[in-house]
Amino acid sequence: MKRRDFSKTMLLLGLGAKSTFARQSIPSAVESPESYEEPAKRLPVRHFDVVVAGGGTAGLFAAIAAGRQGAKTMLIESKGYCGGIAVEGGTAIHSFYNLYTAFEGCKKIKAVQGIPAEFMDKLTEMGGCTGYPEMETARDYDAVCTAIDTELYKLLAFRMLEQAGVFVAVNTLLAGAIVNDSRIRGVITESRSGREAIMANSFVDCTGYGDLCAHAGAGFNVPNDYDSCNSFGLANASIDDYYEFLKSHNAIGQMCRGPRSGEENKFVRMGAEQLDIPALQAEAHKIGMSMITTTVHDNYLMYIKCNYKIPGSVLNRDDVAKAEIEIRNRIARAAELLREYVPGFEKAFIARTSPSLCIRRGRQIICDYDITHEDVIDGRHFDDDTVVYGFHDWAPRYQIKDGGTYGIPYRALCVKSVENLYAAGMMITSDHRAHMSTRNTVSCMGQGQATGTAAALCAQKHCGSRELKFADLKKELLKSKVYFAS
Ligand SMILES: Cc1cc2nc3c(=O)[nH]c(=O)nc-3n(C[C@H](O)[C@H](O)[C@H](O)COP(=O)(O)OP(=O)(O)OC[C@H]3O[C@@H](n4cnc5c(N)ncnc54)[C@H](O)[C@@H]3O)c2cc1C
Repeated sequence: MKRRDFSKTMLLLGLGAKSTFARQSIPSAVESPESYEEPAKRLPVRHFDVVVAGGGTAGLFAAIAAGRQGAKTMLIESKGYCGGIAVEGGTAIHSFYNLYTAFEGCKKIKAVQGIPAEFMDKLTEMGGCTGYPEMETARDYDAVCTAIDTELYKLLAFRMLEQAGVFVAVNTLLAGAIVNDSRIRGVITESRSGREAIMANSFVDCTGYGDLCAHAGAGFNVPNDYDSCNSFGLANASIDDYYEFLKSHNAIGQMCRGPRSGEENKFVRMGAEQLDIPALQAEAHKIGMSMITTTVHDNYLMYIKCNYKIPGSVLNRDDVAKAEIEIRNRIARAAELLREYVPGFEKAFIARTSPSLCIRRGRQIICDYDITHEDVIDGRHFDDDTVVYGFHDWAPRYQIKDGGTYGIPYRALCVKSVENLYAAGMMITSDHRAHMSTRNTVSCMGQGQATGTAAALCAQKHCGSRELKFADLKKELLKSKVYFAS
């Protein structure tokens, strides 16, 4: 079609001409006065021992753990890869170690071991992780800096899932639950292959949002107590230039040296503190920009974050859509500011963003036990500890007593009033201050391993989560090298 004919056709169709439709506001799903009754449909059924919903930070380790126990395991993940916010949001993987750098004479403890630590070792061998180099500044916040290559992380995730014999359903949405009395019989999935019913004995919700718990009728709150965020990778920007810039303004905050692009002792983490450029500070503040970054590669800053507090709810599609647009504008502005102010960044460009907005909390699921702030900062351990953890994202304001650790008890992972459902990841812990610790990546990973192992044992023993003997779980966790405080 010639350009002129094309224009004529468009005019005939009313496109390209001034629209005769008045702009109308579209009611949101909940406001719509009309409804449509969807016809019932027969679904194909598949059977598994364990279903893990959400292949993110916690879910990846839940699925690997269940698979390694010999359970026939299905992992349901809505995106095309696994890793979740660990590969989308953070600046560093906090933290495998206790805060031993902040307390005189404190023993160095690798608090989270097991499958998450094995994963990091493998990733380091692939050149996709810094390992655990010690922080040079901000040693009262975190002792080490574990930075990752997000793409190698995703690849290794697939490899380890495959080796564990997990059936991985990516690009698949968990869309419902089949519940009888207080027991989940199965879940409903949606994918381009159609809707399916997946039956299983035990279930682990690692969706971050608590979607499976909600579908299963579990109790929850929606605290809306955090900023949401999208973080971006900036290419053509060197962390060495960033260091010089911050140094010249006497503004170096967090700093760590480690392996980068195959060379040792290079900057891998850098953060600004009290920058004496009021115009930049003011602009950065307006867009919720955090000036901390990590990297494992030359000329690439891996994560720079722009925060935004959604005026509505992170569970409302339309509120989130508006936030996605707002955050992309903020990201563009952040890149502009860095190009304008940091010498050497003139040709820097945005090389990656998260595929969707990252949240710090969606639903908070009611479990049999709710970890308190005192449990965390007093460094309490329980008879049914499943994970030991020593990082608090609010340090140095809140630190775990004497640089020690606290435990995440089994009860904190059992979803209240559902017999065969565990929750792991950011969806546990109601107290905001305690959550500022339990929600961090390495804690989520440890919870993942614990819940996946427990779910597999329940399936094997044909029992619910409350009938499982904790001693049996602990034996299996010890076998797979999970660390317990003595
Ligand atoms: C911006 C940001 C920065 C952060 N920075 C750090 C940091 O520097 N260090 C740190 O340690 N922690 C950090 N955190 C906290 C930490 O990253 C998260 O709390 C943690 O990764 C959450 O893990 P999760 O497993 O609960 O959720 P996720 O990692 O989000 O995993 C949930 C998975 O479930 C999938 N999913 C969701 N719903 C469905 C569904 N219905 N069906 C199928 N799949 C579904 C998602 O696609 C996702 O893969 C940060 C968090 C944010 C938001």
